[in-house]
Amino acid sequence: MAKNKGAVIVDVERCKGCNLCVIACPQDVLLLNKEANTKGYNYSYMEEPEACTGCTACATICPDACITVYRTKVPDELAPKRVAKKLTSAYFKTSKKN
Ligand code: SF4
Ligand code: SF4
Repeated sequence: MAKNKGAVIVDVERCKGCNLCVIACPQDVLLLNKEANTKGYNYSYMEEPEACTGCTACATICPDACITVYRTKVPDELAPKRVAKKLTSAYFKTSKKN
């Protein structure tokens, strides 16, 4: 059976860096960029593009409708896999006691 693989395009200049799409993504694909757009907002981008299933949760939650999701069918063996959440591991690194 075929599965979905997704790709997300963020309208960088409309993004306000609210982080909602980053939190909403069940695959931990998105992060906020360290660089800002011309309005000074850190826009979201695909940190782990291979993990995107095209579920559209990010586009649905974005209050400014700046995410477009594209989907293609791929065979099971090429289906996106979930990645370890980088923000979570960063949290554990900084909170670890010596
Ligand atoms: S489409 Fe789904 S999996 Fe892909 S980035 Fe958006 S929320 Fe994450
Ligand atoms: S939800 Fe929309 S406005 Fe907020 S960071 Fe994501 S793309 Fe930008």
